[in-house]
Amino acid sequence: MSKASIFLEVAVAAPIHQTLTYLPPPDEEPPTPGCRVLVPLGGRQVTGYVLGAASPPEPGLKIKPCTEIIDRLPLFPPEMLGFFRWIAEYYQHPLGEVIKTALPAGTTSTSSRRVILTAAGATALAGQSGADKTKPWLPVLLSRGELPPGPTRKIWRQAAQRRFLQKWQAAGWLTLVEELSGGATKSRQVTCVTLTASGLAAPPHDLKKSELKTLDILKGLARGLTVPVPRPQLARAYSGARPALQVLSDRGLVTLTELPLYRDPFGEPPLFFPAPACLTDEQETVLAEIERSLERGEFSALLLHGITGCGKTEVYLRASARALALGRSVLVLVPEIALTTQLEGHFFSRFGRDIALLHSGLSPGERYDQWQRIIRGEARIVIGARSAIFAPLAHPGLIIVDEEHDSSYKQEDGLRYQARDLAVLRASLAGGVALLGSATPALTSYQHALNGKYRLLNMTRRVGGQELPEVEVIDLQQVKTVSGRPPLFSPELTTALKQNLAAGDQSLIFLNRRGYASLLLCRACGQPVRCPSCAISLTLHQARRELLCHYCGFTVTSQTLCSNCRSPELVPIGFGTEKLESELRTMLPEARIARLDRDTTMKRRDFLATLRGVHDRRIDILIGTQMITKGHHFPHVTLVGVVWADASLNLPDFRAGERTFQILSQVTGRAGRGEKPGRVIIQALNPGHYAIAAASNHDYQAFFTEELRLRRSLNFPPFSQLVNLRFDGAEELLVRRVAEQCGEQARRLSRSEPTITILGPAPAPLSRLQGRYRWQLLLKGGDRRRLHALCRQLTANREAGPVKLTVDVDPENML
Ligand code: ADP
Ligand code: ZN
Ligand code: ZN
Repeated sequence: MSKASIFLEVAVAAPIHQTLTYLPPPDEEPPTPGCRVLVPLGGRQVTGYVLGAASPPEPGLKIKPCTEIIDRLPLFPPEMLGFFRWIAEYYQHPLGEVIKTALPAGTTSTSSRRVILTAAGATALAGQSGADKTKPWLPVLLSRGELPPGPTRKIWRQAAQRRFLQKWQAAGWLTLVEELSGGATKSRQVTCVTLTASGLAAPPHDLKKSELKTLDILKGLARGLTVPVPRPQLARAYSGARPALQVLSDRGLVTLTELPLYRDPFGEPPLFFPAPACLTDEQETVLAEIERSLERGEFSALLLHGITGCGKTEVYLRASARALALGRSVLVLVPEIALTTQLEGHFFSRFGRDIALLHSGLSPGERYDQWQRIIRGEARIVIGARSAIFAPLAHPGLIIVDEEHDSSYKQEDGLRYQARDLAVLRASLAGGVALLGSATPALTSYQHALNGKYRLLNMTRRVGGQELPEVEVIDLQQVKTVSGRPPLFSPELTTALKQNLAAGDQSLIFLNRRGYASLLLCRACGQPVRCPSCAISLTLHQARRELLCHYCGFTVTSQTLCSNCRSPELVPIGFGTEKLESELRTMLPEARIARLDRDTTMKRRDFLATLRGVHDRRIDILIGTQMITKGHHFPHVTLVGVVWADASLNLPDFRAGERTFQILSQVTGRAGRGEKPGRVIIQALNPGHYAIAAASNHDYQAFFTEELRLRRSLNFPPFSQLVNLRFDGAEELLVRRVAEQCGEQARRLSRSEPTITILGPAPAPLSRLQGRYRWQLLLKGGDRRRLHALCRQLTANREAGPVKLTVDVDPENML
């Protein structure tokens, strides 16, 4: 095909559902699929993604050329296009916006061009310094000797100007330098020692004593495997190791390699987790199943339901090793948490340089580096949070989703995808295995496992044989107090805390709610003080003496008047973690108490310092919100107290029961992970609620049965599918009117469609957020295809106006 006849199919990052056709820029090599281009669109310049060759357009249609090719190398393998197209279709989101969401944020400012004046150019152009109006940039180039990326970009977009540069470049007056901006920094490296095959064999006789000892210790640390051990760790174990290593390396018994430094959350040198000597029976059984699936080399989805501490990580590691051995790559998704996870440490210990990490702590440059390593096939295992589902691996053979029930897998703005669902989809497109693991699987996942869509794998025993902790449930209504109001700490929890303190053990106190008191209630009119823009009650923060809106950040001093009747008589009701702390300090003045929630952890360093304090046993009692339930391993915590288990049951959301069960199960799983058995005390106003009862009995089946019964009776997922249409705008009446019109249209269109129910429109539970009014229209259907078709009809050809419409397919957050 001659260059002139190449048309490009381009998806633009704009709210346009079709792909567009462009020509390559004149006088340039056409870009390859997966590269970004800058294209003219309605008088603007927008970023587009080259999908491939387009079929020739209708004769007479004028096709414009791209303004600029941004990337020389593709940002994703062409195989991923099918994945992107599927997502665009399913989530009803423009393809270009899907791809934009998928690519790391750092890439937007990556490859850029600079112009540098050569010596020849300086001489040749010296005479021209001044007033050439056609080249306003010339004086800068002559005086500085170069043009930075910004101005170069501008010139490059204008064909006439660009031609000057190209001409002068051809004449040898200029060089055009393509480089990465965005601060690509090198990740820190650490020297690692790996035994070779001969290092693993019987040692040569002529080794010195110190060399023999080094080899011995290394074998111990690596458990007789060829895995990289960080040199600092070896040196800590034996101070004579350092000098001996050079000899061992020279003799081919070990290799020394520089690997990216995995630091533990405390910034310490790499954590190294040796492989266990053998697997438990359950691990063996489950792994054999997974390996069989991997070897078949075709799609399957497995749900690994395993209690906390049963050793799922080891299963993931072995399964990954098998996938690599079969020549396939591996993608591991972990929940979004503030810490690098232990899981990363485990993978680093086992696979070293094969790993790329994609997490939110990376700078744009680091992210870009990791991305490129994945594309080039240098990293065959990718670990990351939600957005790592878009990692540019060509044919992942195994996609692991750890803690698959975690709500952080759902993206809640822009492209509202569910990474767990996409993991299954991606595995199916790539002919790989999706492995979802959890102690408390999402209701929908478990239902899929029961009806055969996923295969269920069970692990029911902890590795060391420890029992799950015993849980007592305290009915707060039954506790007598002077005030007549339920207490913060029941006598049982108080006694247990005192005993634990006396025994020198650590306790966790959990409340899923922050602040000193929930709200200020007006004595005169009985209304809480509300946020003027979000219409939700403000939370009182005693230390800062202010009231704070948890959604938009609005603050006002606590010496305020009632927002409703202007009365000054305001009384605090409810409580938060801060109130717990002050009460605990009064109750147990000798205890060392710390608190972890978003108020005390504005700074990551403070957050880590607190965790470190718990690890080093400088803290007796840690108070916290949900963030203490995730991913930490505190071996000396023997008591967990849940202050008010019902707190999360009162949200206007059909998943409140499921969330509460998951949170309670997770927090109870924190106790007794070490040698001593753990004890859990759950306080509740409504202790008979099935979510609380099931969590306290570690009874997933009981929870599942009851929750499923409820969902069936209300016809909620998994018995139906939902699409939530959200409307928001600055003018309440307008938002309401648009929502109502859409509701009428939906009813009209679905009149002959018995599988579809239209709920609403109604104001969203958070009816006002950041100054915008919010309404929603919920579409519920028993047939996904028909439901989505209806949604497409409703949203098609909608013009941008003062009321914004967003589509949330399979919504999870109904607030
Ligand atoms: P889970 O993720 O299922 O809650 P983990 O994977 O964290 O459990 O395992 C719990 C603990 O047991 C970890 O400290 C892990 O190193 C250890 N472990 C796992 N498998 C084995 C094994 N086969 N032998 C000895 N220890 C093991
Ligand atoms: Zn607000
Ligand atoms: Zn009032």
